[in-house]
Amino acid sequence: MTGAPLWLLGVAMGAALGWAAGLVYGSRRRRAAAAPAVRHASGEIRAADGTTGLPSDAKLDHLARVLADRASEQVGLPCAVVLRDVDGGPMTIVAVSDGCDPRLIGYLVQPDSPAGRAITEGTPTVAPADEAAVEAGLRDRRRPLRGGVAVPLRFGSRVDGAVLALGEPTMAPNAAVAALETLARRFASGLGPAHAIAIAERRANTDELTGLANRRSLNRAMATGDAARSALVMLDLDFFKRINDTLGHGAGDLALKHVADLLKTALRAGDVAARVGGEEFAVWLPGADMALGLEVAERLRALIEAKPFRFAGAEHPMTISCGVSAAPVPIPSPDNLMATADAALYRAKREGRNRVMATAGKGG
Ligand code: GH3
Ligand code: MG
Ligand code: MG
Repeated sequence: MTGAPLWLLGVAMGAALGWAAGLVYGSRRRRAAAAPAVRHASGEIRAADGTTGLPSDAKLDHLARVLADRASEQVGLPCAVVLRDVDGGPMTIVAVSDGCDPRLIGYLVQPDSPAGRAITEGTPTVAPADEAAVEAGLRDRRRPLRGGVAVPLRFGSRVDGAVLALGEPTMAPNAAVAALETLARRFASGLGPAHAIAIAERRANTDELTGLANRRSLNRAMATGDAARSALVMLDLDFFKRINDTLGHGAGDLALKHVADLLKTALRAGDVAARVGGEEFAVWLPGADMALGLEVAERLRALIEAKPFRFAGAEHPMTISCGVSAAPVPIPSPDNLMATADAALYRAKREGRNRVMATAGKGG
């Protein structure tokens, strides 16, 4: 530890305020815009938000939680662990200690905040408590986040995270930094590989363009779920080729992301939205019957129709066609649900698009 804390003390109120505000307000905005309860904001959304069915990083979560608790014991403050997947990627709180508001999990840390800079610059940072008072404004429960200490988490030669203590240390800031640095070093050998595995697993299960689950991940969710008590919605964008043809392939990609983002905001925790083909999506609704499947599909259809894709200063209306299947189908297997939903989707296309059809001639 060198002169970094002093350097940061100089940043004083603005930086400290920015930190706390970044932890809370900035990320609240991002949360509001994305899926409800998005837990990992790296673009590869994780199982905790329920919308993708991606596997949870059990080992990483456990280690990060233990680190946060140990840090809290050492410095006598609520502590959190922040990680990022890649250089320049979002930095997210992945674990908090006992006594720290669990709703901080999933919050994005601003890169220019002291906690963010502990990662981007690889130096410990200290934000002065008395000048950092700010209302956290976490929904109904308001409590101040005051200053804090952040130390980088080094995995080999990389810094991909930070341990942070929130509040005014009872010990000298330098001593708090030293204590956290010792812990960060001790945990790095376990946390680094667990983090690398978690990133690789998320990549293998995620559609890169949209951040939704990919087909593999959907198949796994359906195979482990109860196909006898679930509904499946297959969605296909209508006349999508026109978007590519008129605006270009890059705009087409943005339009696909736009639709994916709408799906994320519209689904409940536990539902799985996946991109299963070029401009084809699927939504798996565990526990849903046909009535609910149709209701969700109609909600998605209406939402996409109501929220045109904006590109180059103009609005480009988009619509989807949906096919819905649900148990009981003759054989309530994942394959059968998918085949029957596909057949219903095909009928929705044939009958004019921008509509929802169910298996067995139901729907509207
Ligand atoms: P329909 O209403 O019958 O579904 O018409 P459509 O134009 O949507 O369907 P069609 O199957 O004729 O064309 C699908 C288009 O989707 C063609 C393909 O270029 C485009 N597409 C598929 N994957 C991607 C992608 O990843 N990015 C972009 N930009 N376009 C894609
Ligand atoms: Mg298609
Ligand atoms: Mg299409």
